[in-house]
Amino acid sequence: MNPKLLVPALCTAFLLGLAFSAAADFDTPVIKEWKVKEKNDKGKMEDADYMSIDGILVHEEDPALQPQPTVITPGTASTAEKPGTAPSDAVVLFDGKDLSNWTDTDGKETKWIFKDGVMSPTKSSGMIRSKQEFGSCQLHVEWAEPSKVEGDGQGRGNSGVFLMGKYEVQVLDSYDNKTYPDGQCGALYGRKKPLVNACRKPGEWQTYDIVFHRPVFDKDGNVTKRATFTVIQNGVLVQDHTELSGGCGWKGHHAISHYEAHGDKGPLELQDHGNPVIFRNVWVRELAD
Ligand code: MG
Repeated sequence: MNPKLLVPALCTAFLLGLAFSAAADFDTPVIKEWKVKEKNDKGKMEDADYMSIDGILVHEEDPALQPQPTVITPGTASTAEKPGTAPSDAVVLFDGKDLSNWTDTDGKETKWIFKDGVMSPTKSSGMIRSKQEFGSCQLHVEWAEPSKVEGDGQGRGNSGVFLMGKYEVQVLDSYDNKTYPDGQCGALYGRKKPLVNACRKPGEWQTYDIVFHRPVFDKDGNVTKRATFTVIQNGVLVQDHTELSGGCGWKGHHAISHYEAHGDKGPLELQDHGNPVIFRNVWVRELAD
């Protein structure tokens, strides 16, 4: 083909291809596919398959259309002796230096103890609350259960990670300690048991890496998108994109707690349940909903 005619020919083929784009089976992402006449390795013209996802061509390199991902510096992993560091784009809530990013639930100075680079509730100190609020996020938090094992069931090493101050990922010493499955460590409290019991022994540091997507409400306060949790405990998946069917606020044993509309952001809270669980290395990365 005359090279001068090649571009118009390709454009025509492109438009024809678009006209025969495959109908999407799903609303999102919007997938389109089409064929374009192109020269193959041997110089022969043939149909080449093209595809776009949400309007962006597969393997698009134009930064105006497909910008490169932001470069960040990953953190370091923790060891038994030493907490790791946060990724460069994280909001560090606790790095073992002080409790300056935290208050009690009235916005006053927390009664949690800060000692030797870790923080821990004292008797009746109440929840500790982050000053900064978050919606959908990636959260990293580390804790260790008391080495001296006391109590049983829900009374042994109980604490909790409350996203938006409302939705609890249970913290409990569930190492050789039976309780109701949807209240053990790794559970969305009262709503979903963990896939496995991945607890370490009392006294050993444990990790949660949580991907949380907040619930979304319409103007009348009805939930239009439920909250979801993916939870990795000590490197093991314990909640696999679990959708929370309702709120998990405590309203008595076995009680229903429906979603109650709230703002787009809320504080992170760690629970005082009367047990001296210790925490270190807490950081958050904000996510799009
Ligand atoms: Mg708890």
